[in-house]
Amino acid sequence: MGNVLVVGEIKDGALKKISKELVTAGRKIADATSSTVEALLIGAGADGFAAELGACGADKVYTTEAGDFNPETFANIIADVAKQKGATVVLMPHSGQGKDYSPRVAVKLGAGIVADAVALSVDGGKVVAKKPIYSGKAFANLKVSTDIQIFTVRPNAGEVGTTAKAGAVEKISAASGEAKVKITGWELTGGNKVQLTEASIIVSGGRGMKGPENFPLLQTLCDTLGAALGASRAAVDSGWISHSHQVGQTGKTVSPNCYIACGISGSIQHMAGMGSSKYIVAINKDPEAPIFKVATYGVVADLFEVVPALTSEFKKVLG
Ligand SMILES: Cc1cc2nc3c(=O)[nH]c(=O)nc-3n(C[C@H](O)[C@H](O)[C@H](O)COP(=O)(O)OP(=O)(O)OC[C@H]3O[C@@H](n4cnc5c(N)ncnc54)[C@H](O)[C@@H]3O)c2cc1C
Repeated sequence: MGNVLVVGEIKDGALKKISKELVTAGRKIADATSSTVEALLIGAGADGFAAELGACGADKVYTTEAGDFNPETFANIIADVAKQKGATVVLMPHSGQGKDYSPRVAVKLGAGIVADAVALSVDGGKVVAKKPIYSGKAFANLKVSTDIQIFTVRPNAGEVGTTAKAGAVEKISAASGEAKVKITGWELTGGNKVQLTEASIIVSGGRGMKGPENFPLLQTLCDTLGAALGASRAAVDSGWISHSHQVGQTGKTVSPNCYIACGISGSIQHMAGMGSSKYIVAINKDPEAPIFKVATYGVVADLFEVVPALTSEFKKVLG
């Protein structure tokens, strides 16, 4: 097998954690196939993040500047680097950016792609991607049959490892090409202080919140924990909170370390979006609510008593 190429992500001047999760996953693949892990960082200040990628298993880190994010130019650069370096496995983040450029990279390399994997392993020299299907009711294990195998991996689905490697920086020049579509501006929606799809803690509210006037209760808990605020579709459809907060089949797919569901029954469509969370805490008055079937910790109680008590205890502990 050739090299494993990991595409990291720099956003707002910071290295996204998914970059380290991908390097860690790449390290395991490389160790199982006697290959190397080479990371690619595109953007200003990329050199400064190489050590962080070395610390979790990158043998080499290629860096290049490419101006502002554009999925077309980024796809050209990634495909060019993959060709130059003879990569046979390419791992990319299933982030907003990654979802935009990864299919383009697959087309440019004539490679098969599995998107939104939550775990990667190796079988018979080929990477096996575990991916949720049927709204999270089951998992499919998929292999890519082309010579180059491409995968996008959901943020927070994997660990950050500690197998340190050199992480040697090499500036690389790659053809960015011409973008046919120019991005003229970005508008953030919803006002979430922490991005929902990348948050490691999410506090979500459902119909049990009773009305929009009660969501500040959850926002205070979010602020205390550094969490993002989510919601069920029932809350969104009632006009209590904007759609950008919706988690589920027709909302966002999230994979935080901890998902705190408040007054949410746990419909299959909601669980499609949060079922892969590491720890699920459910607060619900109804002991028969389906959410308790997937919850790590369940609190059968009135959320209007539990949430303020939780917030006050966390404030004491976290300051
Ligand atoms: C095609 C399709 C796509 C959909 N996509 C989505 C999606 O993306 N996301 C999504 O969430 N839904 C989605 N839905 C809707 C989904 O089927 C459910 O209707 C919805 O998830 C229910 O939201 P809920 O759990 O907030 O409300 P409910 O099911 O009404 O549950 C409210 C819960 O709050 C509890 N409760 C009430 N008061 C309190 C209290 N004081 N303290 C504690 N607990 C309390 C109740 O016991 C109850 O369990 C979709 C449906 C369809 C058909």
